[in-house]
Amino acid sequence: MFSKEMYALGAQPSVIREIFEYGKQRKAQIGAENVFDFSLGNPSVPAPPVVNETIKKLCDTMEPTMLHGYTSAIGDQGVRQAIADYLNRTHGTAFSAAEFYMTAGAAASLSITFKALSEQGDKIVLLAPFFPEYSVFAKSAGMEPVVVKCRESDLQFDFDALEEAFDENVKAIVVNSPNNPSGVVLSKESLLKLCAFLEQKQAQYGHPIFLISDEPYRELVYGDIQVPFLTKYYGHTIVCYSFSKSLSLPGDRIGYILVPKAADPTGEIYKAVCGAGRALGYVCAPSLFQFLVPACLGQTSDISIYQRNRDLLMEAFNEDGFSVAKPDGAFYLFLRSPEPDAAAFCEKAKQFELLLVPSDSFGFPGYVRISYCVATEMIERSLPAFRALAQSYGLC
Ligand code: PLP
Repeated sequence: MFSKEMYALGAQPSVIREIFEYGKQRKAQIGAENVFDFSLGNPSVPAPPVVNETIKKLCDTMEPTMLHGYTSAIGDQGVRQAIADYLNRTHGTAFSAAEFYMTAGAAASLSITFKALSEQGDKIVLLAPFFPEYSVFAKSAGMEPVVVKCRESDLQFDFDALEEAFDENVKAIVVNSPNNPSGVVLSKESLLKLCAFLEQKQAQYGHPIFLISDEPYRELVYGDIQVPFLTKYYGHTIVCYSFSKSLSLPGDRIGYILVPKAADPTGEIYKAVCGAGRALGYVCAPSLFQFLVPACLGQTSDISIYQRNRDLLMEAFNEDGFSVAKPDGAFYLFLRSPEPDAAAFCEKAKQFELLLVPSDSFGFPGYVRISYCVATEMIERSLPAFRALAQSYGLC
């Protein structure tokens, strides 16, 4: 009568959503100011002024049938050219509009890319900790996810584990830096080593292995941190980008896929991307938000607020005795649970009205994710609760 697989996906809310819903109920019971909700990755810093100014200007000046009409299925040519020009200026690359496919955010970019690459029997390597929807998108595209944990010491790649996990059926690997859920930025050294590893595996198996770089947090880095642009280091790289986090536009659904010529000399993968977009119904990303993009390239929301939030929490966690992964980007902290069962730790945290997400669904048990894209003032008010939680485990 209906798909049991889809039913299971729909009927089972994600752990993050469940905690968020609990938070809403709890706020109604005891007052919003008494609940410290660190569950969702919904940017709290408003979009930069150029976003609303440009939307108003577009609404006032653009011909309505163009503003609200369909663009080409792959996205507007001028918009794609503007993105190519921006990346070329920023990274010294030489892309053209023809290498870009506009999408409704990173979720669409990833779903389309997985489906475009997938052939019977393919595997896709997911590096834990990872964004849980990867495995949903991969399975739905017919790929078998192979989870490989990063090193616990610094959450960089574990090459022994990668060596063990790889076989000739691996078609792709997903890299996400800065990372959700850990906030860790992969070092250039690790990435170069991964590129060399993949080159060697391609030679060994005699077929391309694609490096899919999921980059919604590329611009959200603090201090002097660089996020290498991977197409420069590995030919078979495909970039899945989104403006959801950098411009605080998650509800407006805009992003793109970059299929560089170097990854796709014959243009067949790009055509498969067009086909996957068509099959999934992801043609013509929202027009108004496509036309917004050229004015916003290189701009971000005020990320100094996230940096302040991170610093406040890190300072407190160091004093409280919690252990946290080195957080250079995104707006997440990955805190080691003081007891082996992270879900039990989250339940305990609830007693202090702290809403944290256990890391099991990120493929890396024993941690909790703290999403700090929240009001700084809520973080300040939450610090005594974190202190009391640490005391309850004898950490301080
Ligand atoms: N990839 C990662 C790592 C994410 O954290 C998210 C959203 O939180 C997505 C992809 C999906 O992004 P979008 O909202 O642009 O679809």
